[in-house]
Amino acid sequence: MKLPIYLDCNATTPVDVRVSSAMLPYLSEEFGNASSASHEYGRRAKEAVDRARFQVADSIGAKSNEIIFTSGATESINLALTGVMEHHRQKRKHLVIAGAEHAATLETAQALEYRGYRLTILGVDDLGRIDIDALRSAISDETALVSLMHANNEVGTVTPISEIGKLCRDRGVLFHCDAAQTVGKLPIDVRTMNVDLLSLSGHKLYAAKGVGALYRRQTAMPMRLRSLIVGGDQEFSSRAGTLNVAGVVGLGKAVELAERERATEQPRLTKLSERLLGALSQRLDGVELNGDPKRRLAGNLNISFANVEAEALLVALPDIACSSGSACHSRLGEPSHVLSAMGLDQARIHGAIRFGLGRFTQTGHVDYAVERLVEAVTSLRKSTSAARS
Ligand SMILES: *Cc1c(COP(=O)(O)O)cnc(C)c1O
Repeated sequence: MKLPIYLDCNATTPVDVRVSSAMLPYLSEEFGNASSASHEYGRRAKEAVDRARFQVADSIGAKSNEIIFTSGATESINLALTGVMEHHRQKRKHLVIAGAEHAATLETAQALEYRGYRLTILGVDDLGRIDIDALRSAISDETALVSLMHANNEVGTVTPISEIGKLCRDRGVLFHCDAAQTVGKLPIDVRTMNVDLLSLSGHKLYAAKGVGALYRRQTAMPMRLRSLIVGGDQEFSSRAGTLNVAGVVGLGKAVELAERERATEQPRLTKLSERLLGALSQRLDGVELNGDPKRRLAGNLNISFANVEAEALLVALPDIACSSGSACHSRLGEPSHVLSAMGLDQARIHGAIRFGLGRFTQTGHVDYAVERLVEAVTSLRKSTSAARS
């Protein structure tokens, strides 16, 4: 078994070899610029990009011309929020998000608020769920956009997207969904779910880092996005710059693989997660699952260990690669804004560890992690109780 065991798949995933094999030719002999229409090299690159655009569109029920390739979900979210709000600037200046969103959404929304837009941040309950009635009353004639995540990257809580999509559509408000954690894992159909914009990320689904996409609906409302990056008419004039052809090809392959394997992979991950949580709960006291126990991502487990500091536990577990929250802010050592928004008490927040199981996680990895965790938690608890007496 290769150590450390990787259990941080909500932060990033390795590139699947089937994805890297698809990418490789586009890093060498097929090096054309997808915008160079005048010769064979460019045309072949464009064909590959078109294929990937179809694969990505198909996996979420969209059309090819509704997909804009970006550098990742952070850029997609920035483009969706800023692009829509700037476009509606004259009429509607109100944006609604929730307190447990990813930093990409929170900080983009706060930057817009600073520039004069009105921002409502909805609260979440102790399971990380938003209250649909609170959303309903937050929406007014001034609201341009609601942006909510499909599943939370820290606690795995899944948001009822269809219901929210319908509510937004009925009120004439655009709806953006941050689906970085769910594309290829949960079924997504932007048409039946009434989603107007959707962000996704390559490196969360076994493609490379530095590539992602933004879906934006073309039919219901004429939706023009003000481009963040200007300097060329690539990507329907919504995102200038030469395309990362190899990255895009890999993203296309990755969504296709994930969709094809979803029906068997997701139940497998649910079983593995249950095995991990079950064994820990059985062998240790004071083990609590954070997030919604029912509507949750299959491979995510956010667990609080009573009387243990998560940071100390991570140090005591050099053979297990897991985390104490989202990767984006872990270096600041701040308590998780998601667990704080859920109103959990400080001890529970400080004792929380996130495990992200994925495509390459096997039963043996889970069992090994359980042994190391039981040892580490037991020994940390002994030393703190010894220090107290
Ligand atoms: C990872 C993630 C992002 C950011 O995606 P990048 O491609 O890394 O920029 C945004 N939202 C959620 C929910 C994520 O998990």
